[in-house]
Amino acid sequence: MNLADCSSHSATARLLHFGSPGAIYLRRFVGSLHVGRCGSNPTHVKTLRLRSNPPKTLTVTAAMASEAELAASAKIIDGKMVAKEIRDEITTEVSRMKDAIGVVPGLAVMLIGERKDSATYVRNKKKACESVGINSFEVRLPEDSAETEVLKFISDFNDDPAVHGILVQLPLPKHMNEQNILNAVSIEKDVDGFHPLNIGRLAMRGREPSFVPCTPKGCIELLHRYGFQIKGKKAVVIGRSNIVGMPAALLLQREDATVTIVHSRTQNPEQIVKEADIVISAVGQPDMVRGTWLKPGAVVIDVGINPVEDATCPRGYRLVGDVCYEEARKVVSAITPVPGGVGPMTIAMLLSNTLTSAKRIHNFQ
Ligand code: NAP
Repeated sequence: MNLADCSSHSATARLLHFGSPGAIYLRRFVGSLHVGRCGSNPTHVKTLRLRSNPPKTLTVTAAMASEAELAASAKIIDGKMVAKEIRDEITTEVSRMKDAIGVVPGLAVMLIGERKDSATYVRNKKKACESVGINSFEVRLPEDSAETEVLKFISDFNDDPAVHGILVQLPLPKHMNEQNILNAVSIEKDVDGFHPLNIGRLAMRGREPSFVPCTPKGCIELLHRYGFQIKGKKAVVIGRSNIVGMPAALLLQREDATVTIVHSRTQNPEQIVKEADIVISAVGQPDMVRGTWLKPGAVVIDVGINPVEDATCPRGYRLVGDVCYEEARKVVSAITPVPGGVGPMTIAMLLSNTLTSAKRIHNFQ
């Protein structure tokens, strides 16, 4: 059995097994019955397979974990479950709208270039649209397309009444100007929320953006749906990217949290993070935030999706967050897992923004 060791900050997780010097670390895991498992989040397991020849099996039962340790374990904020709830709500609304006024919301997705990860994201978005009854329109252009060609498609989608949301998959090929392209999306159909007018309104008091970027919106939605208070709380956002960190900080501020942003030049980030009641991390560094960085009882939303090598996984790697989950869950009151936390919420928010857009354009309540 392998366990990730958060003391390693490299992108490659160190793997520990019974009989190795990591055994002390392991005993702490056995006590609380949570172990890392390839392809899933740490979870309750009953059987541990030992790396010996012949393999031995150790059965662990819930009774072996002390009550105190189980009680000390953080609540898991289940993004997959909440996203499913939201998608069910959207399905109902899409069908109600179709029945009442004959309009089906439509999302146009543009993919420029051949990046495999981008192609996967676009495919997932298309599938998600289908699953809730939203129409999807896809444009794929080769890597060497001219910027004018992309702008022409955007302009056509802006004018197309069947399209209520337009999404240009990022990153764009290097020769294209991202600003020109994002600015060309009609603010009324900017379901990604990246148009500078939408971000500007998000930053200003008394102004309402037409759309809020999907990932940060998903983070706040998780806090709301789990009933965590934001008002008056100290929040720290780690990362200040245009698509996650910065809008997440603006959203928390709009909800009356007192917000600090930590970035790559911040001195003593652990001291700042330790003060936070709410931590949103969007950095892209596996297991960077250690248990010792966190305030007891804090709520942690881990946006990071980081592949780390793991020979035991069929793909040769697994995904971890920015926060060392195994350490954090012993300190905080609630935490999102990776995968299964923020990721599914991002797509659910995209569908929600598309539905909102269609309702707004057709004045449907
Ligand atoms: P990004 O554009 O690379 O921004 C990373 C941010 O982290 C930057 O602001 C950077 O600071 C900061 N940072 C880097 N190293 C740091 C350090 N050692 N200490 C403190 N701050 C540090 O990344 P992003 O697009 O925001 O994505 C962040 C992570 O979220 C990635 O793992 C990505 O895969 C994931 N993500 C997940 C979803 C989802 O749906 N779950 C969606 C989007 C992104 P500077 O500004 O100073 O450079």
